[in-house]
Amino acid sequence: MKKRLFTPGPTPIPESVMLTMAEPIIHHRNPEFVEILTSVNQNLKYLFQTKNEVLTLTSSGTGAMEATVANLLSAGDKAIFVNLGKFGERWGEIMKAYGVEPVEIKVEWGTAPSPELILDALQKNPGVKAVFITHSETSTGVFTNIKEIAAAVHEKYDIAVVVDGITSVGAHEMRFDEWGLDVIVTGSQKGLMVPPGLAFAALSDRAKKMLETSKFPKYYFSFKKALKAHAGNDTPFTPAITLIIGLEKALRMIKEETVESIWLKHKVLSQAVRSGCEAIGLKLFGSPASHAVTAVNIPEGVEYSKFNKILKQKYGITTAGGQEHLKGKIFRVSHLGYYDEVDIVGVVAALEWTLHDLNFKFEPGSGVTAVQQTFAKFAEETAGVVK
Ligand SMILES: *Cc1c(COP(=O)(O)O)cnc(C)c1O
Repeated sequence: MKKRLFTPGPTPIPESVMLTMAEPIIHHRNPEFVEILTSVNQNLKYLFQTKNEVLTLTSSGTGAMEATVANLLSAGDKAIFVNLGKFGERWGEIMKAYGVEPVEIKVEWGTAPSPELILDALQKNPGVKAVFITHSETSTGVFTNIKEIAAAVHEKYDIAVVVDGITSVGAHEMRFDEWGLDVIVTGSQKGLMVPPGLAFAALSDRAKKMLETSKFPKYYFSFKKALKAHAGNDTPFTPAITLIIGLEKALRMIKEETVESIWLKHKVLSQAVRSGCEAIGLKLFGSPASHAVTAVNIPEGVEYSKFNKILKQKYGITTAGGQEHLKGKIFRVSHLGYYDEVDIVGVVAALEWTLHDLNFKFEPGSGVTAVQQTFAKFAEETAGVVK
């Protein structure tokens, strides 16, 4: 049976990327690899829309989150984080582990913070060094307007805006320099279409200045060391050579398609999934919606474990469930990375078949029709986009 992964990390990997990684390994100080790393460093700047360095670390995405806290702050520093889901909450857990004093802004899971909420917390908590936010909250399928938040924060405060962009980079418009972001992190197994094992962090001048004052101990994940090596298109330690070779290929594909096309494609695919689910009679969970992943309420009378089992055993489809108190209450369909319109028609058709098996009442074909109508609605806008 074909394996069809619709999870928000790992995401499907293009055949060409897999084949490149199957070639014999090369040495990382070899000119061939330096050339690959040079291309990766350049194309990461394009993807992140920055003139600054984008560091590549050997870890999953959380490694870059932890490294950001460890490299920018010191024990006793105060920092704001927004708990809007599992991943927003993680910033706070990392801070606590390091002895940073966290100022938590908790919003209901399924909603996003407004700039006013952040400004209010900043006003009530003088001396905050940084604000940690999540661009696309994967656990709830919610999008945060980081552009507005960064602008609002920087209008009044000379502090760092740090963004978890782990499922937004390569899915949502994100202009690191123009929007004045200070750090944005992501991981290879999300929008980048590469297996897990690499993490990335873009750093602004403000963030680089903070590296000078940070007193936390660090060695392997030192941004200063990584930046020094980066200047020579090198890495401080043995990098995940194979993954970087795959990444080089994936980034070239992104460059060829252009980030603007890719952002648009994610918008259209996500809208198609949402309209398909609604037409079936399912209720979407949370808003505003992330373009990377769609969270949907499990309907009354349907048992999540049975739903999941049919999708997997009959159609080879893996989606993601809910986390924490959302376990068994929602399912999440990812459309992040290597997906196209045919994939979306397929996954919504399989949702229909599965729900039909579970005696959920709806008009058969209504979901797939709505998906196609969405694509038709965007046909002109997406004329040059890979379908
Ligand atoms: C996947 C994910 C993470 C965690 O990344 P790992 O690679 O699993 O460490 C963090 N934040 C968001 C928003 C994610 O989607």
